[in-house]
Amino acid sequence: MNRLGMRSFRARLTALYLAFFSLLFLLFSAFLYSELSRSLTARVDETLASEADTAAGLLQDEYQEMKGDRLLAAHEVVSDMKLHSDRVEIREGSTLLAATARTAAGADDRVAARTVQVPGHTFRVEIRASLEPVRAELALVRRAILIALPLLLLLAGAGGYLLATRSLRPLGWMAEQARRITGSNLDTRIQIDHAAAELATLVTSFNELLSRLDQSFETMRRFVADASHELRTPISVIRGEADVALSQPRSEAEYKESLTTILDEARRLSRLVDDLLNLARADAGHVRLQTQDFYLNELLAECCRSVQTLAAARRLTLECRAGGDLQFTGDEQLLRRLIINLLDNAIRYTPSGGKIAAVLESSGGTVQLSVADTGVGIGAADAQHVFERFYRAGEARSRQDGGFGLGLAIVKWIAESHAGAVACASSPGQGSTFTVTLPR
Ligand code: ADP
Repeated sequence: MNRLGMRSFRARLTALYLAFFSLLFLLFSAFLYSELSRSLTARVDETLASEADTAAGLLQDEYQEMKGDRLLAAHEVVSDMKLHSDRVEIREGSTLLAATARTAAGADDRVAARTVQVPGHTFRVEIRASLEPVRAELALVRRAILIALPLLLLLAGAGGYLLATRSLRPLGWMAEQARRITGSNLDTRIQIDHAAAELATLVTSFNELLSRLDQSFETMRRFVADASHELRTPISVIRGEADVALSQPRSEAEYKESLTTILDEARRLSRLVDDLLNLARADAGHVRLQTQDFYLNELLAECCRSVQTLAAARRLTLECRAGGDLQFTGDEQLLRRLIINLLDNAIRYTPSGGKIAAVLESSGGTVQLSVADTGVGIGAADAQHVFERFYRAGEARSRQDGGFGLGLAIVKWIAESHAGAVACASSPGQGSTFTVTLPR
């Protein structure tokens, strides 16, 4: 997040906070106002009702006291009730008997009426009150709300801004620390003390990302270093051989021998470069499987045939149990490579007189291809590393045999790119079995 983005995010947070707070305040004010208005009006109605009751009782008493003089009784009641500011009217039918001084009636005046019955007469007592005082009180409240509103919004805005600034500060620290991380200090980790749970998750995820990057950087660095190291040997052999051959005139046989050595080393070199290229492509995810249908048993038989001469030269018995037709969908070229690599290793690491068995089996939805030999085997410590690039168990014997330690890494990659796996079971001195499991 750049500084501008951060600022606008903060502004947005503040605005949101402000909007939310204003809405809350407005809703609360509206609720309070309507409740107040309702309860004030209700109080006026209650007062009117009790006054009407009083006036009705009074009229009855006065009527008796005035010995049936209804006008006098009515006037007496009105003058008694006048103490209150409300207006009182006493009628009999449509005749007005007595009333307080009239003021213009408001449209929303509240009215309470009672009927008073005495022998021979029916009176109607009506008391009216204006809502003006209620309105005045409400106006006061409205003004208070209007004065408080901007003040409150100002406070809410400032509060929101402070809150947003505070919440975003650790993000700023994080960005600051992240900015300082480059390819050369990928082992640095972001540290935020007392981070909130959400931020702690972000920091952890980021640090995990750094770990993964660091690891792949390290792998890459090692790969480049190992590759350069491996390339150096054949190149120096070629140079040395050529230097020696050219240092003085030689016989044809000697030249031939030198060129044969050079050719051997060049072949080794090109195999190494091929392997490196393949692995690099695989790493970059650029290898697209050229999938097709073919018979896996035929492929195995074919691979066995192609290494038969080599096995025979080393006086090894190569047994191939490919079984019946086993149709498979996959990249034939890559799988051929896989099988050849395994057979090649078996031949290379089995002393003469030994046996090699390549077996293909299918069960359920998987195919199992195993290459077993009675060779030198692999120690437990080495067994867990043999699939790593450039790893060679028993450094000396392998180097002399010409392996680069890439064969099994390629086998593993090919098996995995077919959603399969490869495992190694071996005991030193007795032999090894490599088993590739592929889903059909
Ligand atoms: P290399 O080119 O050295 O053979 P690989 O990746 O094919 O590289 O094998 C890695 C190491 O595993 C070899 O150096 C060897 O020590 C060991 N290895 C592989 N296959 C066998 C086997 N069939 N028997 C004994 N050791 C083996």
